[in-house]
Amino acid sequence: MKSVFVYCEVENKKVAEISQELLSAGKRLAEKLDAPLVAMVNGKDLKGIESQIAPYGVDRLFVGDDVRLEPYRTLPHAALVTKVLKQEDPQIVLFGATSVGRDLAPRIASKLNCGLTADTTILDIGDHFVKKEKKEYTDLLYAIRPAFGGSIMANIINWDMHPQMATVREGVMKKEIFDANYKTEVISVIVNEAVSDTDFVVKIIERHIEESDVNLKDAPIIVAGGYGVGSKENFDLLKNLANILGGEVGGSRAAVDAGFIDHNRQIGQTGTTVRPKLYIAAGISGAIQHTAGMQDASMIISINNDPEAPINALADYVITGDLGVVIPKMIKFYKENAK
Ligand code: FAD
Repeated sequence: MKSVFVYCEVENKKVAEISQELLSAGKRLAEKLDAPLVAMVNGKDLKGIESQIAPYGVDRLFVGDDVRLEPYRTLPHAALVTKVLKQEDPQIVLFGATSVGRDLAPRIASKLNCGLTADTTILDIGDHFVKKEKKEYTDLLYAIRPAFGGSIMANIINWDMHPQMATVREGVMKKEIFDANYKTEVISVIVNEAVSDTDFVVKIIERHIEESDVNLKDAPIIVAGGYGVGSKENFDLLKNLANILGGEVGGSRAAVDAGFIDHNRQIGQTGTTVRPKLYIAAGISGAIQHTAGMQDASMIISINNDPEAPINALADYVITGDLGVVIPKMIKFYKENAK
């Protein structure tokens, strides 16, 4: 059986979160196919990098280690990955739907003349019967993603192209160590055999990394506000509640568009995907594009003055009322009763 291949992103010797999520998802697919999991990582000073990758159940790891490979540049990375993919000939190839993955994957798909499904949120293995050919194709990648503005989930199956390639959104796949002591075969890629001087024609003159103190993905508690919060000032109420609970503040796209809260706090299909222990949704109606990014929270409390708001169907607890009244009461009672 041909392998499942994951492209890992690395910077400063640290494998990216998305790559760890992809390795976990890739291992689940590989197990279903009874196939090996193969990964590739390109960067500089990567000695020992396998210790971060092997525990996800990686059977073979290709390492391109060269000072010129970090920071990322399109041409040398594309050349390296293409060379290894031609040699390895995997059945499935996964990239993160990050700025790097979105740059690299289409270029490689074009070089290999195969398809690419972008921004998937669910991956599975299944069969497909092609009526015209009267033929059943088995063990195919089901690349599932929201389509038509999130109103449907499309299952994209690519039965006549090889390999089957997809980019996967950040934060949607559960990170799972397969075996902390898993042994992987490390294969050093001879970089100069894959790249030429012209691949380095783009020079990086300056890099600016925007620091952000927002960490929605790892927050155990999120207090999220929607258009129903009404104003930027009213969001202070939510900030107060988040502060005393030790959580983060998030928002719906309508709240972001209205300027109540910054874009980097948007939760949902075009924002961050979160899975906190507790998600408090205040003044959020529960559009599918929003719930796509928070439905895996362990507990959901909805505060809404409309008892029929769709988010209530998803919530474990519903508080029907004006959030301007409910949230101050929550703060008051929490302060009185918290030990
Ligand atoms: P509304 O739908 O206007 O809901 C406001 C809610 O507040 C209502 O339920 C109302 O009953 C309640 N309310 C009003 N006043 C009060 C009060 N005083 N007290 C209590 N409750 C009150 N949306 C996202 O959130 N994230 C995304 O990533 C995202 N991506 C999108 C991508 C695409 C391609 C498209 C087309 C849309 C996307 N959207 C996204 C937008 C989404 O469709 C909805 O428009 C949006 O989620 C609605 O936000 P909301 O629930 O805050 O606003």
